[in-house]
Amino acid sequence: MPRTSLRLLKTREELRAWRAAQSPSREVHLVPTMGALHEGHLSLFRQARRHGASAIASLFVNPLQFERKEDLENYPRTVEQDCAQMEAIGVEAVYMPDLADMYGDGCQVTVEAGPGGEHFEGAARPGHFGGMLTVVHKLFQRVQPKRAFFGEKDAQQLFLVRRMALDLDFPVEVVGCPIVREDDGLALSSRNVHLSPAGREQALGLSRALVAVANSFEKGSREVSHLNDLLRTSMEQSGVDVAYAKIIDDARFLPLEDSGAKAGQAWRAVVAGRVEGVHLLDNRFLGRA
Ligand code: AMP
Repeated sequence: MPRTSLRLLKTREELRAWRAAQSPSREVHLVPTMGALHEGHLSLFRQARRHGASAIASLFVNPLQFERKEDLENYPRTVEQDCAQMEAIGVEAVYMPDLADMYGDGCQVTVEAGPGGEHFEGAARPGHFGGMLTVVHKLFQRVQPKRAFFGEKDAQQLFLVRRMALDLDFPVEVVGCPIVREDDGLALSSRNVHLSPAGREQALGLSRALVAVANSFEKGSREVSHLNDLLRTSMEQSGVDVAYAKIIDDARFLPLEDSGAKAGQAWRAVVAGRVEGVHLLDNRFLGRA
């Protein structure tokens, strides 16, 4: 394992000094996180370190993207363990600001997600994407990375960050990284720690529904309503309380209808639901219709 000594940056001044000390010939790669790290996050760090880049992580549980106070309070926090894992992988610095350093006396001007944020997680969690984009905007400004790495696990988030970089002129390449799963298919998530063994079994309903739909798509099925039904019934059979289960147009992150579907469109299946009160999400790219 490569070893560096991880620099802990607690304020924007410390971050600025670290950034200014980086050689202009060495690219800076950013991985934003909320901590409680697992293999999914570690895979982002590994990709960020490629080609000799200087990898910096951020660790900030962002109140602006939590609509429920208890979700924010219950968010798992494992800072010491997180830092040890970053250091073992060779992340060079972690920016871990407190609330005052991130937001000063508040944040009156925020980023709006637009149409790609209206459905799915955006509909289920009003204000979530505006809050997420606002903090990512601030991180892009403060870190000035050449590339930023996000997991496909949160596909709508990845879509919106790409859109923000494009629409608001950030010279940052947003890199999407594959979903890391357990051997049985469950997508890794910081929230999985809240599941009992029985709940974990139910949670497999999400990835199994995606596999069922991918198989049907492979065999030639292009009827959106049929694929949507297959996703939903498959999740319900596992005991998942379905929040949404839809085929989307991946280029716009909007739900597809049978009437609007066109040949050549990129299709993705997106699912979410509650198991034992825990909100879980997953998705899978299906291919071109
Ligand atoms: P979070 O700390 O939950 O905000 O996640 C930080 C980053 O890790 C986001 O870009 C997530 O999409 C990514 N991530 C979370 N879970 C996974 C996973 N299972 N595989 C790949 N990336 C992930």
